[in-house]
Amino acid sequence: MIIVLKPQSTKQMVDNFVDSLQKNYDVKVNEWVGTQSTVLGLIGDTSAIDIDYISAQDIVESVKRVQEPYKKANRKFHPDDTVITLPGGQKIGDGSLSLIAGPCSVESERQIVEIAKSVKDSGAQFLRGGAFKPRTSPYAFQGLKAEGLELLREARKVTGLPIVTEIMRVSHIPLFEDVDIIQVGARNMQNFELLKELGRLDKPILLKRGLSSTIEELLMSAEYIMAGGNEKVILCERGIRTYETYTRNTLDISAVPILKKLSHLPVIVDPSHASGISWLVEPLALAAVAAGADGLIIEVHNDPQHALSDGAQSLTPEQFDQVAKHVNAAAKAFGRKVG
Ligand code: PEP
Ligand code: MN
Repeated sequence: MIIVLKPQSTKQMVDNFVDSLQKNYDVKVNEWVGTQSTVLGLIGDTSAIDIDYISAQDIVESVKRVQEPYKKANRKFHPDDTVITLPGGQKIGDGSLSLIAGPCSVESERQIVEIAKSVKDSGAQFLRGGAFKPRTSPYAFQGLKAEGLELLREARKVTGLPIVTEIMRVSHIPLFEDVDIIQVGARNMQNFELLKELGRLDKPILLKRGLSSTIEELLMSAEYIMAGGNEKVILCERGIRTYETYTRNTLDISAVPILKKLSHLPVIVDPSHASGISWLVEPLALAAVAAGADGLIIEVHNDPQHALSDGAQSLTPEQFDQVAKHVNAAAKAFGRKVG
C-alpha cells in the first residue's frame, strides 16, 4: 500500500502518523521523502487496513493498494531513480552511462592488469573479471578462485578502477569483503539464501537476469536483497533463452524500458552474454543506450582466441576502444555522457 502525504506535512506529523500505522497494523513503513511530497510504502499484511479510514486522515493526500509483489524495488514506493554511489565517488544510475569492462575470467596477473589498463584508457569506469566461474561443464576452467580475487585487487591498485566480480556461494562472502560491486550471475538469480545474505551487506549488488526468468522474477530477486536492508541493487539484462539458436541468448531489449518503468533501480545491459558473438556486441550496446540503459557490461580480452572462457564473445582492447567511442557518440545523441 502506498500513502502519499500532503506537501505541507511537518516531520513531527509524519513521524506520529508512521508510529500509529506501525502500532495498529502488522506492517513496516518505508518512508521516501521527495521535493514535492512524502510517500509511505507499507510492507506486510495490509488487508486489515481500511483505505477509507486512512484517506480521511488530515495528513493524507491519497492512498492506493500496490498490486505488484515487489515493494521496495517498485517505483511506486520510490518515485525517483536510485543512484548508487561507490566509496570512490563513481555513480551508477545518475543519468550518465556507466561502462564496466574486462575479461570473462581472470587468468593471470599480466592478463588482468593489461586489460584493466586498456579498458580504462578507452573510458571504462569499472573492471569486471570472474574469479569463481559458473560453467556448464565441470571439466571447463572454473576460475582462479581466491587467487583471481587477489589479481583483481592488484589490477585495481594499478588502475584505480573499482572491481566487479561474481559470487556463487554464501560461505564466500568474507572473501568478497573489499570487492566494490558483487555480481550475482544469471544461474544464481534465484539462489534465495545467497540473495538474503547479500541483503545484509552495505555494498552494491549487480543482479543478472536468470536464463529463463521473467521481468517480475528478476524484480522479486532484487526484492530479496532489498528486504534485508541492502537497497544498492543494479539490475542487468543479459539475454534470455528463446527458440533462436543463432545467438547464445536473445537480448530482451524491451526489458530495459520496462524495468525502468516498474522500478527505480539502475538497469544495465550485458551485450556480450546476450549475443555470444563479438561482432554483435556493438549493435546491441548501441541499442541498449537507445533503450535507456544506465550502463553496459562488456567482455574484453587481450587474446580472445586463447581465452579460457567466452573468447567468442570477447572484444579485443582495440575493438572495445571503437565500441566505447561509438557508445559515447550514441550517449551524446541522447543528451547523456559516459562516466
Ligand atoms: C559472466 O558475467 O561471466 C557470466 C557468467 O554471466 P551470466 O551469469 O550472465 O551468464
Ligand atoms: Mn562470461
